[in-house]
Amino acid sequence: MAVLDTFKYKDLQGHRVGRFNLGINTSFICYRLNDTLIDAGPTNQWKYVKPFVEEKPFSQLLLTHHHEDHSGNAGAIYQLTGVQPQAPDLTIDILKKGFKIPLTQKVIWGSSGRVDAQPIGNELTIGNENVIPVFTPGHAKDMTCYLMEDRGWLFSADLYIANHLKFLRIDEHIPTLLDSTAKALDCNFETLICPHRGVVEQGKVKLREKYDYLLALSEKAQSLQKEGKDLLEITRLLLGKEGMMSRASGYNFSKRNLIRSCLEVDLNSVR
Ligand SMILES: [Zn+2]
Repeated sequence: MAVLDTFKYKDLQGHRVGRFNLGINTSFICYRLNDTLIDAGPTNQWKYVKPFVEEKPFSQLLLTHHHEDHSGNAGAIYQLTGVQPQAPDLTIDILKKGFKIPLTQKVIWGSSGRVDAQPIGNELTIGNENVIPVFTPGHAKDMTCYLMEDRGWLFSADLYIANHLKFLRIDEHIPTLLDSTAKALDCNFETLICPHRGVVEQGKVKLREKYDYLLALSEKAQSLQKEGKDLLEITRLLLGKEGMMSRASGYNFSKRNLIRSCLEVDLNSVR
């Protein structure tokens, strides 16, 4: 597989790549807005990301978090163009040290090398428009979204992806994700720019749906737990059997992870 789609939304350019064309979880969209690239795409698609990078000059590469599909080509882009990636502080640390990638993810996205990123400046802009970094951990501990209030756009990294999650990575944390989602919902935007799903109009409504879904799932899971049911039983009752992906990943990406994390949500403290 290669370039799966190239599209424009107003003055935003999107370039979807992926080794497997199996939907939004196995493909990635690199975005270009004005003088800026947002995220770098996976290394095993560099051949197809490179022409997109070279198509027009740019002066800024913003990273949202360290995951290999987002940061993979940051080093190659730096080497090719001299544009040093900018990233949240936590991401800089992770990218400096390098990180482990589970085998199934390596098959989908390739590996990821170390890269020397620089901090995001205090007055971040794209073209001459203000951009506000919004720290939104939960999916990853370093994740940051980029808000463009005047446009009503949120570059949402992996905060959204879908409104009905069924699987969770072992390193994701639903209580933190709910906090971050509530924080994002307080921001001024209407449209989500998602690197997996694409441009999501009425994005705030969709993100609210995801929030409500996770809260309802947590409530149901916790009430089943009170009835004495165990994790695997609750998972089966609420989400059905584990899929092929769960087994292939050694339950690194699984339904039981989602329920386990929902059981940790403090329902008294959420809105
Ligand atoms: Zn991610």
